[in-house]
Amino acid sequence: MSIPSAGSSGVQKTPTSETVDQTSTSSQAEAPKETVQPSKSEPLSESGKGQRMQESSISEQSRRSQLDTALEKGTSAQTESLKAKEGPDTKPAAGAPAFPKDAAEMAKTSNEDLLKLAKEPGGEEKLKQLSKDFKKDGLTQDEIKQMDRIDSATFRPGAGLTLHGKPEDQETFTQMTRRTMLESPSFRQRMQTINHDPHPLHHTEIEVSRGKGDDKDSTRLSTFSEFQGGRQQVDLNDLEKLPVKPDPSNPEGITQGSVLVHEYAEARKGTQASKTPGKDIDPMKLYEPAHEEAVKAENEYRKDIGQKSQRLMPPKDATRTADSITVHYDDGHSEKLQFKKGLLDKTTVIPKK
Ligand SMILES: [Zn+2]
Repeated sequence: MSIPSAGSSGVQKTPTSETVDQTSTSSQAEAPKETVQPSKSEPLSESGKGQRMQESSISEQSRRSQLDTALEKGTSAQTESLKAKEGPDTKPAAGAPAFPKDAAEMAKTSNEDLLKLAKEPGGEEKLKQLSKDFKKDGLTQDEIKQMDRIDSATFRPGAGLTLHGKPEDQETFTQMTRRTMLESPSFRQRMQTINHDPHPLHHTEIEVSRGKGDDKDSTRLSTFSEFQGGRQQVDLNDLEKLPVKPDPSNPEGITQGSVLVHEYAEARKGTQASKTPGKDIDPMKLYEPAHEEAVKAENEYRKDIGQKSQRLMPPKDATRTADSITVHYDDGHSEKLQFKKGLLDKTTVIPKK
């Protein structure tokens, strides 16, 4: 695996990274007991080396507050399903979804079933064949739609994208990416652009890891590395604590997909900005524009999945402390992500006043 980004090697990354937006005091007031101490927010200095801004991580993390229970449930369920999918190739389990034969049957196959089918032995090939079959007699609108779903369910990193990290972690992250592409047309488009961009200067890199929960771990969902062209480090242990789908009791909640969308968009923008030929780019100026683009992408995703509120644009989008990030939305609600020893510990929704 590749060299960890600057911050990951034990350099202390403080959560600080982005500007702490203290203006949103109201949200803090309503925050549940687990109040965060703003005092810790610290300056980039520690990150002296300036390595990375974990902000993004934080921000995203913030979304997972509330319903821990519900989240937890979602998480474990998901983990299991991922494991099942990642297991050695085996025959389709009893009760496995049937392979669709045409676009009409595909349309009735849920996203989760489609993801399972793609992971079955030979499943990916069969789905791609189905896609080819659609083209034989000209494509209908329905077939185009189903081809897009097949492309999403069988997504693999291409010329424009490199994942780093343990193979099993990369696989888990790729599966999350496929699921999010299935849910969100805007993200699918972004991913296609990223993945097929052959320009070496636009290469997007994401390092997938699992935080161990020690004090050195400041990845907090994810970290943006200014000195590596916006390369992102993502902590799967944090990500997996977020729900796959918003819990019914928190329909505007932060999901795994929203974090994923944010990180991909941020990494892409960072790499593009950092490697512009003929320009001397100050690495410290990479983060803000990349984060802003990431919030826009995240908001498109929120619309796609039917969420009604939008994350506020930076710098009002979040309030950060040393061990938490609270994300603010335009309907007045916020969601706080609380970290303990670098790991996402809980999420809390702070309702609109
Ligand atoms: Zn960000």
